[in-house]
Amino acid sequence: MTMIAPKLQAVRARIETACLAAGRTPGSVQLLAVSKTFGPESVATAFAAGQTAFGENYIAEAVLKIKALAALPIEWHCIGPIQSNKTRLVAEHFAWAQTVDRLKIAQRLNEQRPVHLQPLQVCLQVNVDGGANKSGVEPDELLGLALKVAALPQLKLRGMMCIPEPAPDFAAACALFQRAKDLFDELNRAGLALDTLSMGMSADLEAAVHSGSTMVRVGTAIFGGRTLEPASA
Ligand SMILES: *Cc1c(COP(=O)(O)O)cnc(C)c1O
Repeated sequence: MTMIAPKLQAVRARIETACLAAGRTPGSVQLLAVSKTFGPESVATAFAAGQTAFGENYIAEAVLKIKALAALPIEWHCIGPIQSNKTRLVAEHFAWAQTVDRLKIAQRLNEQRPVHLQPLQVCLQVNVDGGANKSGVEPDELLGLALKVAALPQLKLRGMMCIPEPAPDFAAACALFQRAKDLFDELNRAGLALDTLSMGMSADLEAAVHSGSTMVRVGTAIFGGRTLEPASA
């Protein structure tokens, strides 16, 4: 799609404006382009426009794309649910896994990460609002899980991610994201040196940046609307 480059530019401008409004340094928030359901050509177009980090939800779909684009130095992030039978694909093909929410999954990723690759960069997905989206570790189990994951040698714990339910307005969205930020700060106070708080999407990235996000995951605003979502992969 020829519209990708200007849309990418517009999203970068939104992030910068949000940073300035929040008194944060532009550049303190990374953009992850969420390319699920879009083909390798769309990813290549965004890459040519300067975007190097991409997020994918459906693991089987992602691996096809990763292989098709192996010639490009893209940093691939897994942002979809990781079932036990998919951990090997994630460990072998992705640089990041942002949706780890159980020790068992972390242990499998650790065992299956090929030794010739850098440790897999990991975020723990946290269920900050207890909403209908039930994925994610519960806040009161977060620190215990984080300490165990941080000890796994083939994983590098980088931070937290969350996908709160859509909020009715800016203030409500900020309140949810602030809950995540508070948990993130708590982990760091406990001695974990985490640098990544992944939150905010097309509709709510300003609120996420306001509340301390360091990485926004944006799909629709870059690639357009998604017509079909694979049921699972
Ligand atoms: C699809 C998805 C996004 C991007 O959502 P948009 O609203 O299209 O920007 C971000 N994070 C996760 C986990 C997603 O599944």
